[in-house]
Amino acid sequence: MSLDKTADCLFCRIARKEVPAKVLFEDDRVLAFEDIRPQAPAHVLVIPKAHIASLEDAPAGSEELLGACLVAARRAAREKGVDATGYRVVLNTGPDSGQVVFHVHFHVLGGRRLGWPPG
Ligand code: AMP
Ligand code: ZN
Repeated sequence: MSLDKTADCLFCRIARKEVPAKVLFEDDRVLAFEDIRPQAPAHVLVIPKAHIASLEDAPAGSEELLGACLVAARRAAREKGVDATGYRVVLNTGPDSGQVVFHVHFHVLGGRRLGWPPG
């Protein structure tokens, strides 16, 4: 039995380029790529390359990494051309949120009027 949580993790595999994705940009800490099932004209996912299952699992000392994800979310919005019209950054966490991929990811959604409250 493997104890390596990253081995079967979809987003770790995308970060390692074992699973193809439309990468927008990356650096040593974060990766931004297109959501495979976009919910808006612009829908990018930003992940830390390090495996963190959910916000609830973020270890002490993750502040900089999570902050880097937010800065990358802003860059993704700019690169998708929705920075001026507005966008939403979403971090689903746990069962009630609908989180299905257990590797922290920030959704960056824009390019249309987004409803509030979310469904
Ligand atoms: P969440 O409900 O926050 O866990 O969202 C997971 C997101 O990952 C969904 O928006 C999916 O469309 C997206 N997703 C799942 N598999 C892939 C993939 N292989 N490449 C890109 N996005 C994906
Ligand atoms: Zn992972």
